[in-house]
Amino acid sequence: VGTLYVVPTPIGNLEDITLRALRVLQEVDFIAAEDTRHTRKLLTHFAIRPKQFFSYHEHNVRTAGESVIRLLQAGYSGALVSDAGMPAISDPGFDLIALLVAEQLPYVVLPGPNAAMTALVGSGLDTKNFSFHGFLPRVAKERRAIIEQLRGRSETLIFYEAPHRIDKMLADLYEGLGNCPVVIAKELTKHHECYVRGRLAEHQQLLPEEMKRGEMVVLVGADPQWDPHVTQNHQSVLGEQLSIAE
Ligand code: SAM
Repeated sequence: VGTLYVVPTPIGNLEDITLRALRVLQEVDFIAAEDTRHTRKLLTHFAIRPKQFFSYHEHNVRTAGESVIRLLQAGYSGALVSDAGMPAISDPGFDLIALLVAEQLPYVVLPGPNAAMTALVGSGLDTKNFSFHGFLPRVAKERRAIIEQLRGRSETLIFYEAPHRIDKMLADLYEGLGNCPVVIAKELTKHHECYVRGRLAEHQQLLPEEMKRGEMVVLVGADPQWDPHVTQNHQSVLGEQLSIAE
């Protein structure tokens, strides 16, 4: 049988693809991608021509999953990629791995770029104990119910959020968790990468309008002694700026 490789891809800066990821993408018989148009740009940039290329996204999990199983059983090896970062982390892929486990088919997960871990390390918040919550529900009632369960937790909380929902999310976090330290990690690995630090009570002033766009990870700290001053450290990313996401 063939092996499925789970291949993480850059979250902004194309230099973050690993040598191993490039080799695997070059060698496999098929690539299953969340969005083939998006991944095509990445492959073109690295002059990789997929032998077989199809989509694996949340709306075709079952049929595409079956195709992957059939190909692996026929002896073909493949790669699973999402639009950015680690597949299966707030991205399609989880069901496929579960299927491979159930079918006892071999797979290998390559380590690589991930927004949550990059943000956690860069935040300066406690990295010893943390929990990841992905995207909170869009429905306010459901979102608040989950936040309520997180009240009083002693670890760093990590969330993903879309820029057009950031205001509501921060307001709900303040309402539900109190005046905790907060860090917003923006545009990681890209030209305008920055970390905005403050406290949840300042949620309305944390992000000026022009900064409410782009990609962001929101982290809530548990340490009440944490420096309460709002800081925004912008830093330019070393190396050539290469991004297909911008
Ligand atoms: N699988 C990806 C990973 O491993 O990080 C996450 C995909 S999820 C659909 C996209 C979310 O991840 C964005 O809404 C944002 O919260 C976060 N994200 C992705 N890239 C980012 C970046 N360069 N800077 C900050 N957050 C990012």
